[in-house]
Amino acid sequence: MHKPAFWKNTKRYYDLKSYWRNQFGCNVYKLQIDAGFTCPNRDGKIATGGCIYCDGRGSKLRQEGLLPSIKEQICHGKKYYQTHRKGHKYIAYFQTFTNTYGPYERLKSLYDEALVQEDIIGLSIGTRPDCLPDDVLDLIGAYAQKFHVWLEIGLQSIHDRTLQFVNRGHSVNTFMDAIKRTMGRGILICSHVIVGLPGENHQDMLETAKIVSALPIHGIKIHALLALKGTPLGDLYERGEVSLIDMEQYVQTVCDILEILPPEMVIQRLTADGYRDIFLGPRWAVNKMAVINAIDKELEKRNTYQGIYAQRHK
Ligand code: SF4
Repeated sequence: MHKPAFWKNTKRYYDLKSYWRNQFGCNVYKLQIDAGFTCPNRDGKIATGGCIYCDGRGSKLRQEGLLPSIKEQICHGKKYYQTHRKGHKYIAYFQTFTNTYGPYERLKSLYDEALVQEDIIGLSIGTRPDCLPDDVLDLIGAYAQKFHVWLEIGLQSIHDRTLQFVNRGHSVNTFMDAIKRTMGRGILICSHVIVGLPGENHQDMLETAKIVSALPIHGIKIHALLALKGTPLGDLYERGEVSLIDMEQYVQTVCDILEILPPEMVIQRLTADGYRDIFLGPRWAVNKMAVINAIDKELEKRNTYQGIYAQRHK
């Protein structure tokens, strides 16, 4: 198999930067926004503890006090990219907690405020599959007719027993239902998957990738399970009751996953951040560049690419 020519990159997978360059002919950056949302898995609607790995801190902005407006957050983010990198266009990334968890009018007003800012070409909205009522999907679908719109829907694992263990507060069926109701609206769907969840073996993780591959999903974020101090997972880890994936296993698993994902699926992320002051492990995950380099090197060693073993069943 040859590497797909449409990627137009030097990677062995279709990274987000290349995808955006191909779509828009320029660099596109995500501007992180904390719009003050909460999460039903933390505020008591579903549960109060949250997912076992969730630190519940939200963004740095939120910790510092009053949140600036959407416009102010966008201006601040743009300044960073204009100074440090060549950014031409921007996506307003509603990132913190569950960004569709609120009344329709509030959501509309927040998204509208983002989309009228200069050089904003679209939205990326992070959410849970159980927070996507049809009227909200209608709203986001209407934006998708005019703008570049991603909906990031957390899944983490295709195994209900794992979702229960990590206290996700939703089932695989809820995720499937959300995908079904989102598709066909022009909305780009990105799914989140965690590698190294407790109780999962290599086959379980590949099973998640295989099922995601067969869904009408346009992008994926993959990262290793991180243990943070003060979270239920952090407590289990400190007591030696769970172990975290090592770098070699992570790299091998990610390469195996990339090989079975369809070549057109955009790889939005292969690493994750955790607050340094509460970070417990795995230590290797702190050096994100080393992880990316190891994945590149392993794919090169195998002489394989994203999609080499893909079977699309759309
Ligand atoms: S869904 Fe996200 S914000 Fe909510 S508890 Fe889980 S990790 Fe935290």
